[in-house]
Amino acid sequence: MAGNPQLIQSELLQNYGKHWPPLYLDVVRHCDLSTLTWAPLMFRKPWDIMFNKLRKDNITVAGDAMHPMTPDIGQGGCSALEDAVVLGRHIGEVLSTKNGKLDSMDIGEAIDGYVKERRWRVTWLVAGSYLSGWAQQGGSNWWMKFLRDVIFYRFLSSKLVNDVNYDCGILPSVAFSSELKSSSKID
Ligand SMILES: Cc1cc2nc3c(=O)[nH]c(=O)nc-3n(C[C@H](O)[C@H](O)[C@H](O)COP(=O)(O)OP(=O)(O)OC[C@H]3O[C@@H](n4cnc5c(N)ncnc54)[C@H](O)[C@@H]3O)c2cc1C
Repeated sequence: MAGNPQLIQSELLQNYGKHWPPLYLDVVRHCDLSTLTWAPLMFRKPWDIMFNKLRKDNITVAGDAMHPMTPDIGQGGCSALEDAVVLGRHIGEVLSTKNGKLDSMDIGEAIDGYVKERRWRVTWLVAGSYLSGWAQQGGSNWWMKFLRDVIFYRFLSSKLVNDVNYDCGILPSVAFSSELKSSSKID
């Protein structure tokens, strides 16, 4: 179905979305077919991020490629932006100690710093996001109510809200030095 916009549209209208609000179905009915795509929602298990390699030689991952998560705390895009700042900062810091000339070892060092700084943060976000959805949509039997009202709302949700307000640092000002910019060279 992914490569067939007409099929995506008709499947949504007649099957998957048939009980959804008419306003939404109207949007689907009038959408520009050339922009319609279909992709599965992805999830990466927290322990997979925690224990697996996030760097291979001078290649790493960021954003959804590193930590696809459930949507329950709205942090997928925010954490992708954090990744970009942190990776940029680590590359900038190495760049500033090497007078603007980087070799592949230096890039590896920068990526190691980035991975080390991001691993715990995104593992917690993926786990917290999943737990948030699970607790809030898990049903209404007595023990789910207990988990939600006594454990989740009392202890976990405030920690999650606090952790969303995260300072990922700033990019080093040296990155803006025109002298350095003109001599920058990545081998
Ligand atoms: C409905 C919905 C609501 C959301 N709401 C929120 C929210 O409120 N807050 C929040 O923080 N996050 C939210 N997110 C999550 C957020 O959109 C994603 O986490 C974020 O866009 C990930 O950014 P990314 O750059 O890692 O990946 P993407 O935004 O997916 O960017 C990847 C890009 O790579 C391109 N690409 C793929 N393959 C190739 C290839 N082979 N060659 C070249 N290019 C390629 C794609 O076309 C795409 O442009 C939401 C997501 C959805 C689906």
